[in-house]
Amino acid sequence: MSFVHICQKCKAVFKYPTQDVHTCPDCSIPMLSTGISDADWAKLSPQQRNEYKEVELRKRLEEQRRREEEQRRLAQEKEEKKTAYIKSQADYIFYEYDIDVIPNDGGVNVTLLKSVLDARARKGWKLHSIYSNELGENSHVEAAGWNRTVRINSTASQDVLIFERRIMDDTQR
Ligand SMILES: [Zn+2]
Repeated sequence: MSFVHICQKCKAVFKYPTQDVHTCPDCSIPMLSTGISDADWAKLSPQQRNEYKEVELRKRLEEQRRREEEQRRLAQEKEEKKTAYIKSQADYIFYEYDIDVIPNDGGVNVTLLKSVLDARARKGWKLHSIYSNELGENSHVEAAGWNRTVRINSTASQDVLIFERRIMDDTQR
């Protein structure tokens, strides 16, 4: 006697002597162990077999969706607990971030760059990091500092400046 196993991907039916979970040889994913003996399976019409497959596979999908939903909920709960703990600490430092984008057509526009930095600094912002975004591609990332690489053959790009400043608490965000 053997039991019917169905691949949830290719829908192929396999028969194994046990109800242990087997892997589909074609898809390499664990198959559904139906617990149905091959004798009982043989009694079903092709239509009944197809219906069984559809119902069972839909059930598994639904179960999987529920499991994922539950995992998301747990992760969110955990994150909320962490945040609540952090906020309960009197000396916790809150930060906020903002971004300025400066066009860059090959050279560093020192005057423009300096005016942006000064304007930000006057409002308590500190440069957190800066990178050049070339033709939609993040080509260069660098921490705050002024040893920025200048490319000789660079084409039109933009400099992305990320600013950081301290705030009192989350309500200021
Ligand atoms: Zn398969």
